[in-house]
Amino acid sequence: MFVRVLPDQAAGKLLDYRVPETMGPHVAVGSRLRIPVRTRVLLGTVIELLNECEFAGVKEVVSLLDERPMIRPAMLDLARWMSDYYCCPLETAVCSVLPVAVRDGRVTAKKQNTVTLAREINEADLGKLAVRAPRQADALKVLVDAGKPMLVSRAANLAGVTEGVFRTLEKHGLVSIAATVVARDPHSEKYVAGAELTLNTEQVEAMKAVVEEMDSPTRPILLFGVTGSGKTEIYLRAIRHALDCGKTALVLVPEIALTPQTVERFKSRFADIQDKIAVLHSHLSEGERHDEWHKIHTGHARVVIGARSSIFAPVENPGVIIVDEEHEPSYKQDEAPRYNARDMAVLRANREKAAVILGSATPSLESWHNAQSGKYRLVRLNQRVDDKSMPVVRVVDLRRPTRNDPGGGILSKPLREAIEGRIQKGEQTILFLNRRGFSTSMICEACGHVCQCHDCSVSLTYHRAAERLVCHICGHNQRAPKSCPKCSDPKIRHAGTGTQKVEEALQRIFPKARIARMDADSMTRKEAYRETLGAFKEGRIDILVGTQMIAKGLHFPNVTLVGIVNADLGLHIPDFRAGERTFQLLTQVAGRAGRGEMEGEVFVQTFTPFSPSIQFARHHDFEGFMEQEMEFRRSFAYPPFGRMAMITLRGTMLERVEFSAMTLSRKLKAAAEEGIIVGEGVPAPLEKAKTYYRFQVSLRGSSSMKLARLARSVLDALPMPEDVFVAVDVDPLHLM
Ligand code: ADP
Ligand code: ZN
Repeated sequence: MFVRVLPDQAAGKLLDYRVPETMGPHVAVGSRLRIPVRTRVLLGTVIELLNECEFAGVKEVVSLLDERPMIRPAMLDLARWMSDYYCCPLETAVCSVLPVAVRDGRVTAKKQNTVTLAREINEADLGKLAVRAPRQADALKVLVDAGKPMLVSRAANLAGVTEGVFRTLEKHGLVSIAATVVARDPHSEKYVAGAELTLNTEQVEAMKAVVEEMDSPTRPILLFGVTGSGKTEIYLRAIRHALDCGKTALVLVPEIALTPQTVERFKSRFADIQDKIAVLHSHLSEGERHDEWHKIHTGHARVVIGARSSIFAPVENPGVIIVDEEHEPSYKQDEAPRYNARDMAVLRANREKAAVILGSATPSLESWHNAQSGKYRLVRLNQRVDDKSMPVVRVVDLRRPTRNDPGGGILSKPLREAIEGRIQKGEQTILFLNRRGFSTSMICEACGHVCQCHDCSVSLTYHRAAERLVCHICGHNQRAPKSCPKCSDPKIRHAGTGTQKVEEALQRIFPKARIARMDADSMTRKEAYRETLGAFKEGRIDILVGTQMIAKGLHFPNVTLVGIVNADLGLHIPDFRAGERTFQLLTQVAGRAGRGEMEGEVFVQTFTPFSPSIQFARHHDFEGFMEQEMEFRRSFAYPPFGRMAMITLRGTMLERVEFSAMTLSRKLKAAAEEGIIVGEGVPAPLEKAKTYYRFQVSLRGSSSMKLARLARSVLDALPMPEDVFVAVDVDPLHLM
């Protein structure tokens, strides 16, 4: 037998190999194996089985990684589609359906030594041994007393001897030691079964729709319900229904939401089948991830909960695929393949005849649009389960002069007073800084004017070196103004406040308060995240300052105040989704306040108090926001009305990158069919990152697939300088 193999690193080349007799029965499409390529041994995936091979010098497969094919045909299919649609090499797509811990066979099952008595031992034997070798006797006695095999480490521990003593006993033929496979279980605590709740009227209706779609899938469900409306309860019931039908379930949640709280909720509901639940998240060790994956691969796990890449979990016969917080940008992978797990979920569910539930309190425009057009089935939960009103949102206008203000322009007077009040009452505050990377737009601190591109309606990017403002979608560029074009005030600048500055200001103003900061910098240790949240939950912290990290998914009943330090930081970035993101964040952050018995209050500080995303969020008016945002997207043909692809070039030599971008833009224009708009080669908003200069070329049209094909055909025929790297992002979510 012969196989056609796609090596992990051979630039898409397919190579044929002979399969040794002994290996034969185990090799199938999707098997992973080691193969000789020139002088090296590489890893690869079997793409096709062949009966014969014309090539006389065909080499032999070196070894097989696993006796079961690691990639099921359905997953291989998904990888092919992904390679096409997201314009990335097939081997990259194929590799990405396997976790690193599994892909290369480096991590293997964990084995531990167990020791058993090799023959019957009686009191007399022990007595004789005790005279000659007392420690050996102690060790042996532990085993005799236990009356069953034990881990060597545990037996040694109990006997107070080293493990070597058991080796000696083995030599004397008294015991035997063997390695056995043990699972590394990251969630080994036993959970108490959580009772099923009685559904309210809205949930009953929602569940009816879910069951209908699960029993005979027709289209994806968009489950639109405010925070606390009981969406998770619907997910839990859907999973139960899948299990009752003998099927499996796959649940995707944003990495950030994979907190112990979430995992606990799922595990306790399914306490009866706790070991059949696999959880995949980034805090697992490689070994744990390996074991969780194999638990799925062997069919033992029936329910999988995980972040983005779990969409490729090899569960068979899924009855339902759930994507919680479907609008979350973290579902998009920011390296090749640049897939969106939400979109892959819809595709996978369709191919495997499963129902798919996309849930959110603030659905993306893409999904909302699909629900409006009838492509998705809209299911609503309008009421919070506890019937609690939404928190009051107060917008604080930062444009007033802040001279000699002890808040240092960071904490306004109303917000300070509100914090003070909470400290006195022993209630807690969360201060949230929506800092997405960096801020490069120009904003007037006197009137709130933001410099924008007339043609594209996104913020212009300020490029310091050239003192120019550039639109990175169409390429328009102009001199950076010295004063505000609208009110002539010279106080036009690009502002930026870090979490650290906020923490310092807080400490100055509230010297006695217990303050903690949570951001990527302060949370480098794996445990720091849990520790800080734990301390906050137990009330040992008064004020928690943080970034996106603390925006969602957490339940703290004693938090009655949430402050957004500067809403403009996320609003005026050169991205047409800036408004949508800000609306989502404000809504989600507001959902943090008043989860308990007490009323919640939210303060939003901003230089642009009348921007629609702030005003609609303030009134908890999702549909109002959608209506106006759709209008904006429609008039500029932005997604969901048009599609986009962004090609980013980077390199250490500025001229070379710039020249390549110009050339690429020209070639794309020449090759583009009617209806595809190719942008100029312009500096990326993030002009330079990690010593690389970055340029971009945008593509817009009505079909993503067409944009991807255009990009691929032109790039394949266009040799790039060796030190210029190209990345194609289809349906990009971050335009930086
Ligand atoms: P969401 O996922 O929409 O934010 P959850 O499912 O977390 O909402 O529900 C919010 C709270 O209400 C949770 O504490 C949950 O246990 C509770 N809950 C949900 N459904 C019901 C119900 N039918 N009866 C009583 N409590 C419920
Ligand atoms: Zn423009």
